[in-house]
Amino acid sequence: SKSQGGNKITYYSTGMNDQAMVRMELESYLRKALEKNEFHLYYQPLMDLKSGEITCIEALIRWQHPLIGLVSPAQFIPLAEETGLIEEIGAWVLTTACVQTKYWQQNGFPNLGISVNVSAYQFQQHTFLSKVMEALHVSRLAPASLSLELTESAMLKDIGYSISIMKSLQELGVKVSMDDFGTGYSSLSYLRNLPIDTLKIDQSFIKHLHDDPSNIAIVKAIITMGQGLAVSIVAEGVETHEQMNILRDLDCHYAQGYYIQKPLDTAAFEQGFRTVENI
Ligand code: C2E
Ligand code: CA
Ligand code: CA
Ligand code: CA
Repeated sequence: SKSQGGNKITYYSTGMNDQAMVRMELESYLRKALEKNEFHLYYQPLMDLKSGEITCIEALIRWQHPLIGLVSPAQFIPLAEETGLIEEIGAWVLTTACVQTKYWQQNGFPNLGISVNVSAYQFQQHTFLSKVMEALHVSRLAPASLSLELTESAMLKDIGYSISIMKSLQELGVKVSMDDFGTGYSSLSYLRNLPIDTLKIDQSFIKHLHDDPSNIAIVKAIITMGQGLAVSIVAEGVETHEQMNILRDLDCHYAQGYYIQKPLDTAAFEQGFRTVENI
């Protein structure tokens, strides 16, 4: 009936208003979050599967809002991109991660590398390269200790421009990783042309590694291709011993995931580091 239809419309529009409100609130909170020091970095190790050593850690942002609680990056990074706030947040992440890594290098982990996620919008800004150089300068971190993780879609947005920036990064000595590999539309011809040092196989391929032989075939092919292209391979989302054994048998270089270690804050990372070495 008519009244039911009316109710429905009211219901939906209320819902949308609520969503818009939450969004607007999040956006204004997001603007203040940097000043209020509400962002934190967690760190998750990447393990060399041959030696068992932790060679590198990935920085993962966390937002601890006093009222909302922990907000996942999957929720606020897209909003930060839409509003342009990602430029400032991204610069903060870069500097904080480099400073922290330099500190750990000087306090017991001399060869530790750091991998930092870069969003598409952030990467396309003309100031991006100078922000990277500034983070390296401020932290005194060697460029070779830094990797930047970009998704395929970020790289392909304006491929000519992207390649030039990636080459400039590599000329500085900074490494470039392709994140979430296998989830986009990666054509192999792109892969040949893109100057990348590392491919990170998306966790969706690792999840069913042991119960789906086709995933083993795919992962095996990526690893073989990596060897041919002199690109190192990281398997993401390793959650079981079985998955890690398969990856080791396939000669995958690095593994990352809850089985090895969950992302940890700086204090827990310093404590947890010892236990990882026994896996
Ligand atoms: P990502 O770069 O693909 O990061 C991997 C995500 O998988 C992280 O989620 C990590 O905590 C989670 N993870 C690690 N090991 C496992 C595992 O064994 N199993 C499962 N199920 N998950 C695992 P997180 O920290 O919530 O980050 C989500 C995404 O947010 C990241 O995906 C990245 O795209 C983005 N992100 C995180 N930090 C930053 C940042 O500082 N800057 C930018 N631009 N994006 C970030
Ligand atoms: Ca990543
Ligand atoms: Ca990933
Ligand atoms: Ca991802």
